[in-house]
Parts: sequence; C-alpha cells; structure tokens
Amino acid sequence: MNWLLAPVREQGAPEGIFGGECVTCGELSPLVDDDPQPVAIWAIRHTQREPSHGLFLFRAEKHWRVERCADGIEGDAEARSGRHPVAEFFDRAFGPAFVGLMCLLTAFAGYLMAYT
Ligand SMILES: [Zn+2]
Repeated sequence: MNWLLAPVREQGAPEGIFGGECVTCGELSPLVDDDPQPVAIWAIRHTQREPSHGLFLFRAEKHWRVERCADGIEGDAEARSGRHPVAEFFDRAFGPAFVGLMCLLTAFAGYLMAYT
C-alpha cells in the first residue's frame, strides 16, 4: 500500500497561512491567508511601538493530507519533484521576494520615523 503526503489544493484552500510572534513579549500577529505582507507590517509596527522588541518568529503553515495511492502510482512526491514538497513550500513562503519586501518596509518605516 502506497501513501502520499500532498498539499491540500481544493478551491478556497489557502496557499499558505502566515503568522508572526514577538520573541520578547510573545504578542501574536493576526493569522493571514496567502500573503505574508500583513505579518511583515505588523512586525515593523510592533517594533516602532516597542523599540527593544526586534526579534520575531515567523510561521508559514499549510494544510496537508495523507492519501492512499492507487496501485502503480508513485507515492513519493520527493522522488517526483526532486525536492521535498514541505521544503519547497517554505522556500516559496519566505523566499527572496519576502526578504526584499521586509527591507523595503523597514527602510520606509525608518523614513516615516525620521520625519514625524
Ligand atoms: Zn513584543
């Protein structure tokens, strides 16, 4: 019997669920579907409010389902894609675009603080 672990792709299923936590005080961001940008903005605003709180734990979550494979279908997603699907998800979730956005927002936040 083969089993397959695969991301849930039904209509309406979020591509990712994002959240953040301040390591200093434990405050949690709202959880948002599909777009990490609100979590980035939440973190920057939190640090603006509490300047000594600059370290965050970001999470990207996704629903996965284990299913039985029909006979003859390769059940190992890693073998098919060459990479583990969970690793691919995290690459997409917190990839270079997200880091670029963070730097941009941080620079913008600094600009706002300098002129207020
Ligand atoms: Zn905090």
